[in-house]
Amino acid sequence: MPASVFIGLGSNLSSPIQQVLQAINEIAGLANTKLNASSSLYETAPMGPQDQPNYINAVVHIHTSQQPLALLKSLQKIEQLHSRTRNTDHWGARTLDLDILHVEGCSSNTTELTLPHPGLHCRSFVLYPLHEISPHLDIPNLGSIEQLIVQLNEPKPTIISGKNLEKPPSVC
Ligand code: AMP
Repeated sequence: MPASVFIGLGSNLSSPIQQVLQAINEIAGLANTKLNASSSLYETAPMGPQDQPNYINAVVHIHTSQQPLALLKSLQKIEQLHSRTRNTDHWGARTLDLDILHVEGCSSNTTELTLPHPGLHCRSFVLYPLHEISPHLDIPNLGSIEQLIVQLNEPKPTIISGKNLEKPPSVC
């Protein structure tokens, strides 16, 4: 039976809106995978070094028969398609970052794959889009998305587009 999976997307280089929209299409096109919902696009300030552009973030919900580790490899291939380079700077600028946020009914505690994602509960650019597409989601040992947003106590990031954006606004 396919698993219900939430994936976070982020980009702050080389036309970030296009990077994220294209990546959503590529995730939807993965083998044995169906895209259920995608959030609006959100613009957020970078974590860590501030001398880099703002990020465009989104969250998607899929059903997939791919096992979590296989899905991680599929997502890393998509990152590479987007010319993702890995540098030594953990919070450095990137064309595309894909994180598996949560796989319902599954937890993992290895360096290669930690589930739920260790940053899920403390990132507004994850929690708000997650809440938009799955307002009643409850994550075992973490709590409901609503509770996590209240605990985080950070303002909602700016939404730069609604769902199903076809043409990116000219500002970005
Ligand atoms: P980054 O792309 O810098 O966010 O980190 C990628 C590294 O985090 C890869 O080595 C992954 O194996 C590892 N990783 C651990 N848990 C996850 C997860 N839930 N989603 C994506 N990457 C993960």
